[in-house]
Amino acid sequence: MPYPTISRLLLDHPYHLKGSIGISDQDDGWMNLYVQYVNTLKVEYHDPTWCHSWTVGSPPYFPNLHTLRMTYNDDGLAASIHPGYPSRACRLLGGISPTSVVLDMPSLDGMSPIALPGSISRSVNDLTFIFGQRGCLTRHDKCRFDEDMLASLTLQRITMVFPPTIKSDEEEEDQEESRRGSISSYVISILMAFEPSPITIVNAGYDEKMGKGSSHLSMKILDRKGPEMFKRRLEAMCKAHGWCEERIRKRQDTLRFLTMDEWAERSEMWDSKVERERVMRWKEVMGRA
Ligand SMILES: [Zn+2]
Repeated sequence: MPYPTISRLLLDHPYHLKGSIGISDQDDGWMNLYVQYVNTLKVEYHDPTWCHSWTVGSPPYFPNLHTLRMTYNDDGLAASIHPGYPSRACRLLGGISPTSVVLDMPSLDGMSPIALPGSISRSVNDLTFIFGQRGCLTRHDKCRFDEDMLASLTLQRITMVFPPTIKSDEEEEDQEESRRGSISSYVISILMAFEPSPITIVNAGYDEKMGKGSSHLSMKILDRKGPEMFKRRLEAMCKAHGWCEERIRKRQDTLRFLTMDEWAERSEMWDSKVERERVMRWKEVMGRA
């Protein structure tokens, strides 16, 4: 039985709008002429009424889609694209087969598992995580995944990005308040779940800065030390889960670390996945951190 949440109430406006690209044959039939030109699709969290997920019928089909950007909720159940209805499959996502998926998670939670429809988890080979605020995560919370989705994924490339926290001018003055806390346990649980896949980690030093022990260090130092610190955390967590030394070393050896500057310079790594303005803003903010 669905239940209302604060998120649902907030969605009434402006997200709860009738009609959108290719969703309703009646209202948006004219759009069907254009869906063949869509290469990148951005889907923000929304009410299931918006995507007609309470009804049956064929989902819209985007024949030339290669990148799907999903922006999750920033309050409540962060890993669900339908806040308040985490188990309701999204009709809009049900018929698309992108090769690249971006999971943009403004707020993290360890409760609702990340799930992608079968057509997406079978087609995607390039997955990008953008981690936001710690949200209601506790220090030891882990990322949860839908088991069926994990079993069907065959990923060739995974990227994890730690963007800087960007506050308003007034908020920026209070550094203590903006410190979100390390999310390393959550992130390492993803590294463990995708054990054989090579992973690129962007701005790892920033996560250390957000934690308690290293907040006094400059980003210049943390850009240099961050990868080793991250690997040590990985080792400790893997050991706690009974991994042997060799297995841990193999996992560590398939990690590649880039600073925000280095990643921003390689536009081929984020082009079509993240807006250029956003990447440049992250780079600028990190330059002042
Ligand atoms: Zn939906």
